[in-house]
Amino acid sequence: MNERDARLGGVLRRIWGFETFKSHQREAMSAVLEGRDSLVVLPTGGGKSLCYQAPAVAEGTLGVVVSPLISLMKDQVDALTANGVPAAYYNSSLDAAGRREVIRRLQAGEIRLLYVSPERLTGDGSGRFLDLLRSVGPRFVAVDEAHCISHWGHDFRPEYRRLGTLREALGDVSLHAFTATATPRVRNDIVSQLGLIDPAVVVGSFDRPNLTYRVRRRTNLLSQVRRVLDAHPGEGGIVYCLARRDVDSLAARLADLGYSVAPYHAGLSDEERKRNQDAFVNERVDVVIATVAFGMGIDRSNVRFVVHAAAPRSVEHYQQETGRAGRDGLPAECVLLYSPADFAIWQSILEGSGEASPEALELLRHMRRYAAQVTCRHRALAEYFGQEHPGDCGACDVCLEELEPVEDATVLAQKILSCVVRTGQRWGAGHVVDVLRGADTERVRRTGHDQLSTYGLLEGMPVAELRGYLDQLVDLGLLAQEGGRYPVLSVTPAGWEILRNGAACTLWRQPPPPTKKKASKRPRRDDASWEGVDTELFDRLRALRHEIAAQRGVPPYVIFHDRSLRDMARLKPVTPAALLDVYGVGERKAASLGPRFLAAIAEHLATSPHT
Ligand code: ADP
Ligand code: MG
Repeated sequence: MNERDARLGGVLRRIWGFETFKSHQREAMSAVLEGRDSLVVLPTGGGKSLCYQAPAVAEGTLGVVVSPLISLMKDQVDALTANGVPAAYYNSSLDAAGRREVIRRLQAGEIRLLYVSPERLTGDGSGRFLDLLRSVGPRFVAVDEAHCISHWGHDFRPEYRRLGTLREALGDVSLHAFTATATPRVRNDIVSQLGLIDPAVVVGSFDRPNLTYRVRRRTNLLSQVRRVLDAHPGEGGIVYCLARRDVDSLAARLADLGYSVAPYHAGLSDEERKRNQDAFVNERVDVVIATVAFGMGIDRSNVRFVVHAAAPRSVEHYQQETGRAGRDGLPAECVLLYSPADFAIWQSILEGSGEASPEALELLRHMRRYAAQVTCRHRALAEYFGQEHPGDCGACDVCLEELEPVEDATVLAQKILSCVVRTGQRWGAGHVVDVLRGADTERVRRTGHDQLSTYGLLEGMPVAELRGYLDQLVDLGLLAQEGGRYPVLSVTPAGWEILRNGAACTLWRQPPPPTKKKASKRPRRDDASWEGVDTELFDRLRALRHEIAAQRGVPPYVIFHDRSLRDMARLKPVTPAALLDVYGVGERKAASLGPRFLAAIAEHLATSPHT
């Protein structure tokens, strides 16, 4: 190990309280240290920030970090400050005195990491600021969330486009781009837009082993969402809805039922949005019900679940949104509740906004395939992003064998398909379901469909269950569902194979309806990540964290991550030296926060006789 590596390792331990590098961090740091341009693609929670922070600290130099949001800059600077690293942001949230103070610290060479917005560096009137930067000689520029530079990414920002001029403006700096977006097109775009020169390209695995993926057909949204919430009482989560009105109605209904929720979408006032986001980040609210407008800039690390109340428009979006769960590496759950109708809705949204390019529709089809197929979800996601995965992940509904195949699926499929044929292939799912169940509706009588041989063929099957099978037949391409707002079902050639020749097919039983039993008030803490953790102590330390965070005006995770609290509640250190062995406790935090946490642990030990 050379001297530089040793220094980095020391910084990692002393400042951040981490024992080892995460995968690819060392490579990414080497590029920064060597001043070689780089593109680093690591999943959310992969530890990208440290890749540029640790080198600046280890070398005692200045690094400039381009970040898209003021709230993100603040969180990062708060987190660095809590670890004793001199850092600052320079953006429109500072008043004149604040700006002068940052400039003073820059000129005195005190700052290791300076966070700035892209417009500050390239917008109108950026000249003087660039002059200042040149005079203090930053060693590198790190562009965080670099996918914002690309049209093909999910958060395109025009200001990012101009960052290519930075190298010329700042002279001798290296440029380093960081993103979690995995598609090659976005990657290539970043390299060319930023004008990276012979960059080191570091690409990690996109698999997130700590996330458990589940896909369910949407039968009763409210009760399905409640089931997830009830499994995580007091824990943080996000529920993504497709439209603003869905957000409003779901949030209202959950609030009425006593859940700790807040809505978030672009139709709310700036003030309300900010209030709800802050409440979530500061853990005053457990669950945000949101459109895709919510997410970037949310660094809350202990999000324990992400629910999609409808399918997103692409696997890229899905990956990005589910990626907000479990940044701390602890287990988290991602549940996709979808209906085939979601894809028709997306198509009409895209058409309405002029975005229905062949590419966009192709992305939508991929999403549909992901939702419909029944294979290891981790593997499906990895392969979608061009990586290998052995499957059998033990962390998805398929590998956990939560899905139950229907016996005699072919016969069931034949019954449904034949009813579609008998009714003339000109009706929607609702009517076909009525006929199969033998319902006595005005339409059934008017059409004379109560005289068909398929009338009442599946009498007694619940509507939701039958609807689910119809959806599956559509997903399997055995039924086509076409025609705008009131889509009509028809049998495809593959469907005829089943009808005529009894070709085999597999259908999956719908999940049983939620039990009525009252949810417990305490989270289930029985997975391996809780092993040896004194949960009572954990709750106590969590309350202390909340109190200190509120006093300091920072989010709780800036004080300590959940992982650190669990580790404390496992190791129960009572001396400052033992506290340093806890995950994520560096020297600064041991000194500034240690006394209060050690006292809480000691008090707990004194008052709880069994431990
Ligand atoms: P990203 O920006 O890639 O999404 P972050 O930089 O926010 O990820 O880091 C994710 C989490 O991983 C943070 O809680 C961070 O403290 C933690 N982390 C980073 N590097 C390490 C490491 N070497 N060991 C342990 N935890 C780490
Ligand atoms: Mg990040």
